[in-house]
Amino acid sequence: MITAVVGINWGDEGKGRMVDLLCAGYDIVARYQGGNNAGHTVVNDMGKFALNLIPCGIFRAGIVNVLGTGMVIDPEHLWNEIETLRARGAEITPDNLKVSEKAIICMPYHRTLDVLEEDRLGANAQGSTRRGIAPVYSDKYHRKALRVGDALRADTLRGKVETVAGFKSVLMSGYGAGSVSVGDTLAWLGEFVGRLAPFVTNTESYLESAASDGKNIMLEAQLGTLRDIDFGIYPYTTSSTTLAAYGPIGAGIPGRRLDRVVGVMKAYSSSVGGGPFTVEMSGAEADALREAGGEYGTATGRPRRVGAFDCVASRFGVKMQGADTLALTKFDVLSYMERIPVCVAYDIGGARVTDFPTGDELEAAKPVYEYLPGFGTDISGCRSAAELPSAARDYIGFIENAVGARIQYVSVGPGRDDYFIKCEV
Ligand code: GDP
Repeated sequence: MITAVVGINWGDEGKGRMVDLLCAGYDIVARYQGGNNAGHTVVNDMGKFALNLIPCGIFRAGIVNVLGTGMVIDPEHLWNEIETLRARGAEITPDNLKVSEKAIICMPYHRTLDVLEEDRLGANAQGSTRRGIAPVYSDKYHRKALRVGDALRADTLRGKVETVAGFKSVLMSGYGAGSVSVGDTLAWLGEFVGRLAPFVTNTESYLESAASDGKNIMLEAQLGTLRDIDFGIYPYTTSSTTLAAYGPIGAGIPGRRLDRVVGVMKAYSSSVGGGPFTVEMSGAEADALREAGGEYGTATGRPRRVGAFDCVASRFGVKMQGADTLALTKFDVLSYMERIPVCVAYDIGGARVTDFPTGDELEAAKPVYEYLPGFGTDISGCRSAAELPSAARDYIGFIENAVGARIQYVSVGPGRDDYFIKCEV
């Protein structure tokens, strides 16, 4: 069984929590795209963890976690993440953590260039996390990046570093920011990739034979549909493919098809960074939802923009992910609302639009709301659909109809057991 767990919305839907829950019974959990620019939160017996690079299967004994080929990896950050988790009791060894030798290295100069460009843009900044992700993916596709395995081959590394340092220095000087030192770069690679060496391997060979042996493999996405580089709210997207269809390629099992796609969808909306966010709330209404949902960035601590559930964007998200199962998360957060706004369509220049638009049309979209009755009680203790107040069951039915798919899992709290299965799909 090969399953992808993906985000339906703008990210921060609670994918970490769902991977942690659903990976019981899996042999492998593999990340397939992105870097340390977003965080997956897991709350379990050992405490609360924010994982940036390491897959959420790391807390379950017997699961092998893979940082796949489609990722961009800052080895300094990865090493810190390993140390932090170990200090809190997680066991991390080359047996349960494997890093693709073909994954791209996110270098210190990528971070620097990310900051320089966002600062240059000033008020028009794209809302980058400033962790180097856009610059490093640019270099990957420009074929001017280093792969993890490159840093472990002493005989050829210097020549490769000289090439990329020369290239990046041209760009740095355009910002008036000096140049990239070959010596410093080699020292940094030696220190941080060197320490990771025991974890580095040919992960596609490992994954392909695991798939052939019928092992259960979970592919863990970062961010959500609307941040996808091709189909998201470009240019306010991330720099990688967040869609399930890329999962096998990015993880390293390109010849295999997915058996199942679990779309994680939040009961309301949130977004970090810039770009159109049609349902954005403001003032006291936004503050109340942000506080109820604890909507502050895992990787950055930035307050997230929040808003009502967006049927237009979520239907698009479900379709693009090809989700056959949905997990509705943070449903408990809506408990405080007296009436619950739901965005059912966009108004664009007087026309009612229900297909997710793009570009300038999306920028011009105004939300059309319907209001559903509040639940009248805290639902965080509910462990079955039957225990929910009827208004909460109606809310679920309303959004299932709106997005055109069934919700199987309902999450009503951050803890591993704070959920119930509404129906088998
Ligand atoms: P991810 O990037 O998709 O994994 O999501 P984040 O980790 O950025 O954000 C999800 C946040 O919501 C984390 O703090 C989780 O602990 C928390 N969370 C997840 N599911 C639920 C839920 O059902 N209810 C509540 N109240 N919190 C949840």
